[in-house]
Amino acid sequence: MEELREQINHHAYRYYVLDDPEVSDAEYDELLRELQALESEFPELITPDSPTQRVGGAPSDLFAPVQHRSRMLSLDNVFSQEELEAWGRRVERLIGSGARYACELKIDGVAVALTYEDGVYARGATRGDGVTGEDITANIRTVRAVPQRLRVANPPAVLEVRGEMYLPVKAFEKLNEQLLAEGKRPFANPRNAAAGSLRQKDPAVTASRPLRLWTHGLGWAEGLRFESHSQSLAWLRDAGLPVDPHITVVDTLEEVFAFTQRWQEHRHSVDYEIDGVVVKVDQIPLQEELGATSHAPRWAVAYKFPPEERTTILRAIEVHTGRTGIVTPFARLEPVFISGVTVTTATLHNEDEVARKDVRVGDTVIVRRAGDVIPEVVGPVLSKRPKGARPWRFPKRCPSCGTELVRREGEAYWRCPNKRACPSQNVEWLFAFASRGAMDIEGLGYKTGYLLIDLGWIQDPADVYSLTAEQLEQLPGFAEKRIENLLTAIEASRRPSPRSTGWLRPRRRRSPRWRASAPSSPAASRSGSPTSTTGGCWRSFARPASAWRTPSRNARRKGPSAGRPSS
Ligand SMILES: [Zn+2]
Repeated sequence: MEELREQINHHAYRYYVLDDPEVSDAEYDELLRELQALESEFPELITPDSPTQRVGGAPSDLFAPVQHRSRMLSLDNVFSQEELEAWGRRVERLIGSGARYACELKIDGVAVALTYEDGVYARGATRGDGVTGEDITANIRTVRAVPQRLRVANPPAVLEVRGEMYLPVKAFEKLNEQLLAEGKRPFANPRNAAAGSLRQKDPAVTASRPLRLWTHGLGWAEGLRFESHSQSLAWLRDAGLPVDPHITVVDTLEEVFAFTQRWQEHRHSVDYEIDGVVVKVDQIPLQEELGATSHAPRWAVAYKFPPEERTTILRAIEVHTGRTGIVTPFARLEPVFISGVTVTTATLHNEDEVARKDVRVGDTVIVRRAGDVIPEVVGPVLSKRPKGARPWRFPKRCPSCGTELVRREGEAYWRCPNKRACPSQNVEWLFAFASRGAMDIEGLGYKTGYLLIDLGWIQDPADVYSLTAEQLEQLPGFAEKRIENLLTAIEASRRPSPRSTGWLRPRRRRSPRWRASAPSSPAASRSGSPTSTTGGCWRSFARPASAWRTPSRNARRKGPSAGRPSS
């Protein structure tokens, strides 16, 4: 049995670390099944580091806080070659020209810290705020790319290794197809998919997602001392941890620039999402000499690729009424794939913006998407404008309730003045509904509300009443007691209370108009506060409505459930 285990570990190493498998997936699975069969016959021989123990581990201590042994600093970002050059020159001014630079692809995944005790995987955590992360030990254990045991003769007593968990682009697309087929909500991008897969209550779900890992540094290594960053990476690789083979050490800043240029052009030539290049001074004594500021090391920098732009056809310009009554125009686009996401809608901000850009229905337009930001229409390609394309006119009436729109003097926005009965505006209802003083649903606060909306379980306030225990079970932090309390509170709110006001009652009638017209995210605001003018609940609410009910994938921003806790 030990032999079989070693064999499986060997093949996992070939596959996940060396990327050079000797056997097919089917053969690997066959070996795994063989071991499972043996272990079920002799359960007393199961060891905790057996490859079979990856699947379906006990969902214990999930999301408990965990302190990192040393702070997981974030990196300073630079957004242009000039800024990168300025960083490089500053480094050279401080330490002379003897530095070598390790250039790494910046993986758009989920930062994790893995702890090995005496060479055995002991703990896995998210980055969290850099000081305290979330304990996702059981979930990370299911990831085949993570060795259960280091392949070194004398492992350090404690080793904390840092890396990035990600879902390969192909696996992400396959997962989304599958989710759509099951009538579930697809993920916006591979990073969200990776984060969502890692933060599962049931490790078996994580196990079913083909997550991968690239480790890129040490947080803590008792008794180990390296001369250079690249040497530590070589050690990690020898220890069985996956290290991205594209990492390159160069001698000059010119070579650094060449590396970033090359990868900017060929960013899609790897099967995972990258959004930049991380440059680190390789020699550790020089790193120590440079030190860190309060928030980031001086010896490393993240060069972020510029936003990606693509052209596509503008099919229609529609407007959507947000929760504060502001009416935002947005573009319906011929689906276009931009940095890992299929974009079908893009914001046009307001009437003046549409006029300034002079985009017209039928135009070929340039669409830009930068990181998590809402895709936006940059402008038309005038040479491709079809004959007879006419300037767009802002509609006179609210698309949701038909009320005549108003635009006040000095304001950029048109508004729907129908505060009370406009279905689109009533998304605010959910929060008012749940709050004290209205329906008083204990346990249905903003955080939970966001989550429910983001998961698509609440697309209409009335959906609150169809929430099930099975759904709530899947939310982080929802144990039996809490689920019971929330369901009881929801049930209790059905009875009219003296404090509730008429319009706050759940609307039984659904609003197909609102559903049909909700764009992915035309709200211009980036602020996350639920009470801000156009951000908050609106964007979370509107996004799923169109994206989850139609087979086409809409571009969506990072969802609060996946992004917030780990970013
Ligand atoms: Zn309206």
